[in-house]
Amino acid sequence: MTKNILLLAHLDESGNGLPKAAGEALGAAVELAKQLNASLSIGLIGGDVQAAADSVANSGAQRLLAVMGSDFAQPRFASDLLAAEALCRTASADLILAPATSRFLRALPGLAHRLNGRVDTHITSIQVVDGAVCATRWFYRQRIEGVFQRDARPWILLLDSGCHEAYCGPSGKAAIEEIAVALPSEARRTTIAGIRAPKSDSQTIRPDAALLFVAGAGWTKKQPDGKSHPEQAESLILGFLRASGASLGGSKSLVDQSGENQAVLGFMTHLNQVGQTGATPRHPKGLSTCCHGEEPHVVGWRFINERRAINLDPNCGWARGKADVLYVADAFEVMAKVNDLLKKPQS
Ligand SMILES: Cc1cc2nc3c(=O)[nH]c(=O)nc-3n(C[C@H](O)[C@H](O)[C@H](O)COP(=O)(O)OP(=O)(O)OC[C@H]3O[C@@H](n4cnc5c(N)ncnc54)[C@H](O)[C@@H]3O)c2cc1C
Repeated sequence: MTKNILLLAHLDESGNGLPKAAGEALGAAVELAKQLNASLSIGLIGGDVQAAADSVANSGAQRLLAVMGSDFAQPRFASDLLAAEALCRTASADLILAPATSRFLRALPGLAHRLNGRVDTHITSIQVVDGAVCATRWFYRQRIEGVFQRDARPWILLLDSGCHEAYCGPSGKAAIEEIAVALPSEARRTTIAGIRAPKSDSQTIRPDAALLFVAGAGWTKKQPDGKSHPEQAESLILGFLRASGASLGGSKSLVDQSGENQAVLGFMTHLNQVGQTGATPRHPKGLSTCCHGEEPHVVGWRFINERRAINLDPNCGWARGKADVLYVADAFEVMAKVNDLLKKPQS
């Protein structure tokens, strides 16, 4: 039986608020606490957590715990682990919900070990069936959906982002119970010297974007004039990404070209690959361009709700029930026109 639920969260990169995924995990925790008639605590980790605590002050949580201070501002396995352990022990938590951020995906499996509990990652939903907590996740590259229970407690569940509505109650004045954690020197050894990030222009993977724009190998192939036009392709694609804020995906054939020394799009990496051996992103809409729509690619579109494609070939895979709309057209021409329209002020 689940008596004490703990929602664990860390501050976002700005150091002020909570990451979007934490709001979603809190939404799930609030619902679950009601269904199970269990108590809910929130445990925060970060430098100064007051603003974040205020934003969840009216969530109905009985306790608002925090491990805070400069030692806990930056992600670090050793300090995050000790902070999370102190919060779980204070809350006597038997079920721990947390967002599947990279920070927690690193630290919380270690927490399960310390608490002699169990952890499951990439959870997409949590339900109560006949009084028992059931978690859902995908297996075998999103082909099999598993629903499972565990007897072991504490049970830590890391919720993937985009799977639950975020908590959005009004903020208030939170009374924080600070939990003191003294870090031994070996837990302070790792420090972040700085962050090297790509220019915001080249940051093309945007998980929260409303649209996924996929580029296929056709962008670098010979066009009807007998030549390839990679520079034009690059400027059309980057122009569209800039104007629309879309996230960029690629087909395997396109991302593999960088290893084959062909004319390539400089900003396209294997991290952009969508498909069976690539990623399975979640976006409300998707637009495929110059990509054939073969099954090993389209399987990565499983969570894209509305799909459109532009291809010269009326017999491409998208035409066979894989897209809602297929434009049989030259993507160079279509995207040039779309970019022009995006430049014009919207009436
Ligand atoms: C085990 C396995 C795993 C795989 N995993 C993946 C994966 O994760 N992701 C993935 O993508 N693939 C994967 N593949 C490969 C997949 O089967 C295809 O080979 C690949 O997706 C093809 O990429 P493409 O459609 O970009 O290229 P192509 O098949 O070369 O298609 C290019 C398309 O561009 C169109 N085109 C050209 N010029 C224009 C233009 N001007 N305007 C409009 N259209 C134009 C052409 O008509 C053509 O349809 C996998 C294959 C296997 C066997």
